[in-house]
Amino acid sequence: MSFSRNVLLWMSQNEWLKKHVPTWRFVKKAVKKFMPGETEDAAFEASIKYSSNNIQIVITKLGENIAQLNDAELVRDHYLQLIDKINLSSLDVEISVKLTQLGFDLSEEKTKLFVTEIAKKIFNNLRNTFYIDIESSDYTQRTVDFYKNILLGSENVGLCLQAYLYRTEKDLTELLELNSSIRLVKGAYKEPADIAFPEKAKVDENYFLLSKMMMNKTLEKNLRMIYATHDEKLIARIIDESKNIGLKKEQLEFQMLYGIKSSFQRKLAAEGFKVRVLISYGQSWYPWYLRRLAERPANVWFVLKNLIS
Ligand SMILES: Cc1cc2nc3c(=O)[nH]c(=O)nc-3n(C[C@H](O)[C@H](O)[C@H](O)COP(=O)(O)OP(=O)(O)OC[C@H]3O[C@@H](n4cnc5c(N)ncnc54)[C@H](O)[C@@H]3O)c2cc1C
Repeated sequence: MSFSRNVLLWMSQNEWLKKHVPTWRFVKKAVKKFMPGETEDAAFEASIKYSSNNIQIVITKLGENIAQLNDAELVRDHYLQLIDKINLSSLDVEISVKLTQLGFDLSEEKTKLFVTEIAKKIFNNLRNTFYIDIESSDYTQRTVDFYKNILLGSENVGLCLQAYLYRTEKDLTELLELNSSIRLVKGAYKEPADIAFPEKAKVDENYFLLSKMMMNKTLEKNLRMIYATHDEKLIARIIDESKNIGLKKEQLEFQMLYGIKSSFQRKLAAEGFKVRVLISYGQSWYPWYLRRLAERPANVWFVLKNLIS
């Protein structure tokens, strides 16, 4: 892991910075590159533009590690209202959340109740899939166990897995057996070398290996699998492999983040692949934004340019 990535990921967890940086105007301005605004209306407006390019949306309200169960209830209420709003729009929007935003640090039982309520309402109204984000390795085992438990009662829930973890091949094998819908990412947190590949090349290779397992599952059972990456070389390899094994274009789905590789997103959608863009909104953007900067430390120059201007 590079020095600058390490520093940015450390900054994402620093309490003093978490409190002060979001009040700095030049940082607020820079954040707009990665999110259309702090409100859900801003996210909806951006969604309309994407849908005209045949790109669908995943939406998430930023926030993690909430400190009181009351706050988790408010998050649950927010998502329940959001489902009504999506239902009234003609947009194809899915929802993805972090378990720690729904009280996972405080009461797993309550989190299970909230997740089930949201999943059920999505199933009845939107008929699409509710995705659970994957957070740092402190939560991996608990999240996988929680997800398996949720699957027993709610079919329309999918899980994100991280290719940088050594354990993911085993997790994926088990979850594919359960016919889960998986969103594969490289992983955005600071993890030690005894649990995660430290070299980017190895993460990329593992991502490809895991993708092959997912593509074979799609071939076997036509299950929905999601390749969430902006890595053009990796995507080209996945497309080649999908052709080799006989998948159709519409059986491949790529997801990317708002503001990153927008023209590539449009190109893939125009070629006939499924594309969804994850749009984030909300006021608690600090740790999430620092992880975006860590993915490409050159982005820090963009923040500094806003300071100068
Ligand atoms: C839909 C979606 C959902 C995600 N959910 C999770 C999750 O639940 N848990 C989790 O740990 N992580 C999640 N991530 C983040 C993910 O783990 C990676 O940190 C992130 O996608 C960057 O990795 P990459 O696959 O794009 O590959 P990289 O090798 O990091 O990047 C490939 C290329 O994409 C471009 N790029 C990548 N990131 C940026 C950036 N921030 N700014 C500008 N250019 C960039 C660069 O050109 C880079 O060379 C999610 C990502 C996506 C797209």
